Amino acid sequence: MERVYIGLGSNLATPLAQLRSALASLAALPHSNLIARSSFYASDPLGPADQPRYVNAVAALDTALSPLALLDRLQTIELEQGRTRKAERWGPRTLDLDILLFGNQKVDIARLTVPHYHMHARAFVLYPLAEIVPELHLPDGRTLSELLSACPFEGLQRLAEAAPE
Ligand code: ATP
Ligand code: MG
Ligand code: MG
Repeated sequence: MERVYIGLGSNLATPLAQLRSALASLAALPHSNLIARSSFYASDPLGPADQPRYVNAVAALDTALSPLALLDRLQTIELEQGRTRKAERWGPRTLDLDILLFGNQKVDIARLTVPHYHMHARAFVLYPLAEIVPELHLPDGRTLSELLSACPFEGLQRLAEAAPE
């Protein structure tokens, strides 16, 4: 089993519901256990500014799947939740599931780069991640605290949770 961190994002078709549905799908993955999830956060979009704000979260998953098998599963969940691939990079989407970290492994192939190439600079990744694993070290030895101190909370808003039913 490897401990994997997954970044979730949505800015279309009821983003919060999209993330809840994606978390249920992650919890149902074979050979895997969903360990934790962060709070939900609203964030300003990357790339084109003329799109709705995002809702983001980070999940921790233990899995015996390989990195590519997990990527296949995540892309299937994206498609099941109505994601369409458009030419425009970072355009609006119902669901984005990115592998942030896969244990201490480094992967650098055409379909998959792990650690995620830009996680170190994204507030909507680092702050949720810090809720789950404040003492995290990246495979290159950098600490999450170090990355956070260089990444302002700007544009991010932690959402209050609905009371449990
Ligand atoms: P960004 O990667 O900047 O967050 P994005 O998530 O919008 O942008 P996508 O359109 O979701 O990008 O993915 C484009 C391709 O990135 C995918 O088809 C996938 O093969 C590849 N990819 C590379 N590394 C990863 C990773 N760590 N997690 C998920 N997909 C990845
Ligand atoms: Mg992404
Ligand atoms: Mg993606």
